[in-house]
Amino acid sequence: MIGVTILGATGSIGVSTLDVLARHPERYEVVALSARGSVDKLYQQCLAHRPRYAVMAEPDAAEQLRARLKNEAPEIKVLAGQAGLETVAALPETDTVMAAIVGAAGLLPTLAAVRAGKRVLLANKEALVMAGRLFMDEVRAHGAVLLPIDSEHNAVFQCLPRDFGSDLQRAGIRRIVLTASGGPFRATPLDQLPYVTPAQACAHPNWVMGRKISVDSATMMNKGLEVIEACWLFNTTPERIEVVLHPQSIVHSLVEYDDRSLLAELGSPDMRTPIAHALAWPERIASGAPALNLLDLHLDFERVDYTRFPCLPLAYQALARGGTASVTLNAANEIAVAAFLDGRLAFTGIAHVIERTLADRPVREPASLAVILEEDAAARAQALQHVQGHAARGAVRSSA
Ligand code: NAD
Ligand code: MG
Repeated sequence: MIGVTILGATGSIGVSTLDVLARHPERYEVVALSARGSVDKLYQQCLAHRPRYAVMAEPDAAEQLRARLKNEAPEIKVLAGQAGLETVAALPETDTVMAAIVGAAGLLPTLAAVRAGKRVLLANKEALVMAGRLFMDEVRAHGAVLLPIDSEHNAVFQCLPRDFGSDLQRAGIRRIVLTASGGPFRATPLDQLPYVTPAQACAHPNWVMGRKISVDSATMMNKGLEVIEACWLFNTTPERIEVVLHPQSIVHSLVEYDDRSLLAELGSPDMRTPIAHALAWPERIASGAPALNLLDLHLDFERVDYTRFPCLPLAYQALARGGTASVTLNAANEIAVAAFLDGRLAFTGIAHVIERTLADRPVREPASLAVILEEDAAARAQALQHVQGHAARGAVRSSA
């Protein structure tokens, strides 16, 4: 039996992971489930999947979960806080960790899994955006196996040669093409963008996802984060990565070889496919995703318009600056997206807040985790000031 811990079990990726695991009870055992504060949801998941451990990041929520499980499932150990998350990421009975916490909160628990040499299924792209080099060094130092869950990176991984030795050129690869759906506002008139609501931003045309990544998809910061993620995962530079709009989200990404062969992975937009792929790699297991009918397919590809999606060039700017600039970018984005979701910032204010925060913050060498966490905190404080500046100027025109 392969023991699996899910960090972020109650989220969109967590729920899809449990769905895949439940299809293969002879192969996988759920060792631990975690969530931030949604007691009801984690309680139900505990009853259905009977993990050995359950972790609530919020201590009060852990207390409530413990009380509720006392009669129904007293054998489940309930842990709390950051320490609890790091403990279940590194348990000896855990072979595989699904890193599916959203945002910077996922960095330390994901790193704990890496340092314990686990097979780490990385959905939490923000961890890699923040800690890139340090993260990849730890993967190598501890013999962890890092497999991408992001559909684009999982597609690229599937199109790489099996013996890919972290050297694109030696593998005869010219470039990586990441596809992007363009989100719900791909065709919205530009003058309406300041007024779009969180509900509209979260209504993604192809994927059902958590709220933060849904807004990131609407601004295309998600693609910016993914370009940075791809640079670290595949040991390459932004010049070798191209982003194209592909509104149908069927071609999940492509790899172009020197002989001009273009390999792609196609599938229904269903995260259970990359999850099943990474769980079983190098074997294959059923995912539950619906089959694609080739006769129904219609595939379009378009250039990205940077005027409509200014967050994407901001991510390239952060990559070009190097150092802690990606930490700044990610932190400012998290603050701006949260403010937009709360109705405190207009949709178009997200890019402004990130741009100004990037301009304010000095770039440092991300030599240690301490430096990375310091910059994360400082950039959040700075971004919050810009959000408040926007609010004071009456820049919030959208309503939740
Ligand atoms: P979500 O919001 O649906 O779920 C987030 C999970 O993290 C929940 O279980 C929540 O309880 C937990 N969590 C949130 N804050 C936490 C904190 N401070 N401490 C501990 N736990 C916390 O998010 P999601 O859509 O499942 O996305 C998860 C990650 O996967 C993100 O990094 C996202 O970018 C990435 N991802 C998601 C998709 C998708 O289809 N949803 C696709 C690709 C990548
Ligand atoms: Mg993606």
